[in-house]
Amino acid sequence: MTLMLSVALTGRDVLLVGGGAVTARRLRRFLAEGARVRVVAPDLHPETAALVEAHAIPWRRGTFRGSDLRGAWLVHAATGRQRVDRDIAARCERRRVLCINAGDGGHGSARMTAQVDSGDITVAVTSTVGVDPRRSATVRDAIGDQLAEGRLPLRRQREGGPGRVDLVGGGPGPADLMTVRARRLIAEADVIVADRLGPTIEVLQAIDPHVQVIDVGKRPGSHPVPQEEINRLIVEHAAAGRRVVRLKGGDPFVFGRGGEEMQACLAAGIPVDVVPAPSSAIAVPQAAGIPVTHRGTASAIHVVNGQGPITTSTLESMADDSVTTVVLMGVAALGGIVDAALRHGIAADRPMAFVESGHTPQQRTTRTTLGRASEDAAAIGLRNPAVIVIGDVARADLLMPAPERIGASLA
Ligand code: SAH
Repeated sequence: MTLMLSVALTGRDVLLVGGGAVTARRLRRFLAEGARVRVVAPDLHPETAALVEAHAIPWRRGTFRGSDLRGAWLVHAATGRQRVDRDIAARCERRRVLCINAGDGGHGSARMTAQVDSGDITVAVTSTVGVDPRRSATVRDAIGDQLAEGRLPLRRQREGGPGRVDLVGGGPGPADLMTVRARRLIAEADVIVADRLGPTIEVLQAIDPHVQVIDVGKRPGSHPVPQEEINRLIVEHAAAGRRVVRLKGGDPFVFGRGGEEMQACLAAGIPVDVVPAPSSAIAVPQAAGIPVTHRGTASAIHVVNGQGPITTSTLESMADDSVTTVVLMGVAALGGIVDAALRHGIAADRPMAFVESGHTPQQRTTRTTLGRASEDAAAIGLRNPAVIVIGDVARADLLMPAPERIGASLA
């Protein structure tokens, strides 16, 4: 029989007897917990020696003596000799000090568990029959994977803890392009403030019905919820002790106004973090087979908001053969961008591509050139959301094998 306790070792005296590799492994765990560790051993394995030196851990060189137990809350016996470990465990028993008998796990009063930490949850696994660390570790890993991906009901059930905001990038659309951290934070959230773009639908359909989902989705030209209101919302919910996920399409810090939301949280003293994600600036061209950099073709990327003024740096990047220019939010402004580029003297045959609704079943790619772009956009009825790529990487044949090689590979 065993009762698993969660023991706070911070600042507590933990004695490790034996200087081998097992001691080194355990030292790392106890150190991570902030325990006041000390070692008794005649000599040290190089790994243990390195830790002892790096952390200035007290080491008494010699074999175990009963007086070593003085002050210890917990003892770890791993001398490499079963009889000695058992003797230490027996002395601990008499002194009422908990002892992990590493050499002979069944005979200590305490045992290490296979442990996994995920966010603010810790799961520990042990077995009640014999010692089978690999089995416990396997179970731990399986649970750890589920925790990491937010596939377990992680939401706090009791109110009153501290609130926080996580600005979470949802990536370009498909749920399997979200990070595991994003999935876990969504599973832990009390409130999700979501945009229209991104993987919201699929992921949000699966969440706990008690989670409050607030849709602040913005459409080009209309802003249903003003940014100041979003800032106020996330701060207010977090200040009330809730865990807020601000879920955004793509990456929060790429034209996502994540910086402003972070400022609002910091100004209000709310703990805030950012979870990055693939940005449509890179992931949407990629979905159409366009690498935004390509050895020998493009060695720099210029990402620009199409709604902003057309700056000299944008014109220069479009003119530079070695640069890929990626325009987000550029559908309405396309005509103006093209005209400015042509007036600037950029070649009309500069390759361009439109990628609409990247990473969705509606994805459509149109290859064109600067000279034909406006006409082609009108002809296909170019629609948001779309990424516009200008540069040689947009050429349809960029990644195609050369014709003479096709023959060779077929032969
Ligand atoms: N933070 C986001 C960008 C927000 S701005 C990111 O890192 O991806 C919104 C613009 O992103 C849209 O106007 C469009 O240009 C682009 N975009 C987002 N998702 C897209 C998609 N699935 N297909 C094409 N463009 C997309």
